[in-house]
Amino acid sequence: MTATTESLMLPQTFKFTSAEHGAFIDGTETATGGSTIDTLDPATCRVITTIAETDNETVDRAVESAAKAFEGEWGTILPARREELLHRFADLIEENAAELAQYDALEGGKPISHVESVDLPLAVEQFRYYAGWPTKIQGATVPVSTSDTHVYTRRIPLGVVAAITPWNFPLCQAAIKLAPALAAGNTVVLKPSELTSLSSLRLAHLAIEAGLPAGTVNVVTGTGAGTGQALVSHPKVAKISFTGSEATGRHLGAEAGRSLKHISLELGGKNPHIVFADADIAKAAAYAATTAYFYSGQVCFSGSRLMVERAVLDEVLSAVEEHADALVLGHGLDRSSTMGPLSSATHREKVERYLNTVSGTGATVAFGGSRTKESGYFLEPTAIVGPADTDPVVAEEIFGPVLVIQPFDSIEELVPRANSGQYGLTAGVWTSDVRKAHTVARQLQAGTVWVNTYADYNAAAPFGGFKNSGFGKDCGPAGLDKFLDTQTVWMSLA
Ligand code: NAD
Repeated sequence: MTATTESLMLPQTFKFTSAEHGAFIDGTETATGGSTIDTLDPATCRVITTIAETDNETVDRAVESAAKAFEGEWGTILPARREELLHRFADLIEENAAELAQYDALEGGKPISHVESVDLPLAVEQFRYYAGWPTKIQGATVPVSTSDTHVYTRRIPLGVVAAITPWNFPLCQAAIKLAPALAAGNTVVLKPSELTSLSSLRLAHLAIEAGLPAGTVNVVTGTGAGTGQALVSHPKVAKISFTGSEATGRHLGAEAGRSLKHISLELGGKNPHIVFADADIAKAAAYAATTAYFYSGQVCFSGSRLMVERAVLDEVLSAVEEHADALVLGHGLDRSSTMGPLSSATHREKVERYLNTVSGTGATVAFGGSRTKESGYFLEPTAIVGPADTDPVVAEEIFGPVLVIQPFDSIEELVPRANSGQYGLTAGVWTSDVRKAHTVARQLQAGTVWVNTYADYNAAAPFGGFKNSGFGKDCGPAGLDKFLDTQTVWMSLA
């Protein structure tokens, strides 16, 4: 950690970051038998903190603690009390927002102003929204065609949930999993990414402070191949709730198939962001740049594939470049930063390998493409104009500040091209013609379509992908449903 970084930290952030952390089990942090992992500040490449690689035996203790809480206090708590506790949890996240925001800014390199204005409110909203549910989870009476019989259903929790989160939205993703899982009555073992563990550990402390019984929320830190694998293959885990890459999602899908666990997968995206010539071009271009470069493009629903009607291509490109030029690249804790670094050295190298595929394809790098600072994993906001639909920069998720821009000439040509990718997470449409907006939106193979806006998100609105972007929606009633099972009871009245 540098002296400048240290001076920007709150005293409580500094204290928590400087402490040695283990896994959080049964209401307290506990030493694990495994090795340790250094977490780096991606803006300085310096070590911020050291987390535990939780070993198999300690993962087992975490799952046993969650199983005990499920069979005990949390499993039998009255619904109204569950609601109160989830609201109290939300209160504590709000009260500790400044501190929590600093962990994600430090470890993830995100501008602190973005974490405070986007991640924190979204995390609180998840708890507030799902806190309203426990007293409303209902079964039904079933009109079976059998005489003298009464049939009803009960909606019941699944048991222990293994919640696996990615590094790009640590706090938010933890909340998106914890809030509905707990509202449904499950207990949780959370495994955050090894790059960004601190906010999840701190959340577990707040769960206890809120009054949730010990064992209801546990956190095991460590790598995917070690700690994560031990968690998802544990026989007492009933459900895997995963957000991350397509490759890991496929692996966990196979794992769930082998052990017959419930699973939901929120995976990557390469999202067509479509601008028609009749749109409000200034507004569309501002959104195009913002959603492409927000958090350096390390966002699953980044508007990373901009498809522009040919007549306005030059106008859109120059407006996007103007917005990109205005971005201030800097440290996550620096309030003047509007764009941070990439998450790691290996990730930046991966993004650069994509840029190297452009030469000789007929496409051009319109701006950006270079490293910008001596230290930190920074990369300039970049645009590639004119790649073919099958080029890797269009077909694959780059997950960096790289916007690909493609012209189109008609709706008939546009729609199959926009749907040609392997993913189906989100899409955007900009037009002043309502009929065109509806016609295109309903034909796009994307779990969410935004019209004349982009990246709106709310705990009440289902979010999740089609095709290789996964299955099982976050948010809304569907987000709760995936943490519940149905029991049918037949009673003879004869
Ligand atoms: P990743 O798949 O590398 O890792 C995600 C998590 O899985 C990490 O905690 C990792 O340690 C863990 N993991 C890896 N192997 C595992 C295993 N064998 N068993 C158990 N756990 C394992 O993904 P990432 O690089 O952290 O995140 C970026 C990806 O996440 C991108 O593809 C992005 O689009 C996606 N994402 C999707 C959404 C969404 O809502 N659809 C949201 C955020 C991020």
